Amino acid sequence: MRKECDWFAVHTKSFLSDSLSNEELERFLKHASDCEDCKKELSIALMIGPGMEKLEKGEVFHLKNELAAVQEEAGLRLKKRKKLFQTATWMQILSILAIAGAVVCVLIAWRT
Ligand SMILES: [Zn+2]
Repeated sequence: MRKECDWFAVHTKSFLSDSLSNEELERFLKHASDCEDCKKELSIALMIGPGMEKLEKGEVFHLKNELAAVQEEAGLRLKKRKKLFQTATWMQILSILAIAGAVVCVLIAWRT
């Protein structure tokens, strides 16, 4: 688990700036829900990053709510991205099929 914790620590900043790939984001969220130590580390990073910004602006910052919200939002983002990727893959498959169909039609027309 220690190796995963190191990976998590290295990628926390990228998580907060939303610059992880889908695979990385999935791995990050999974570890955040599995490992209490890293969850704590993440909440500290949240507090000194976005938390301080909010407090400086005079906004309310509830660490527990904020952590849950950040994890939930990231989970939704991941779901959306995966769906988009799936749609793009299907579009590619459909266009390949359409091209193949057109080629078959041309070949049939050529023979007759
Ligand atoms: Zn950990």
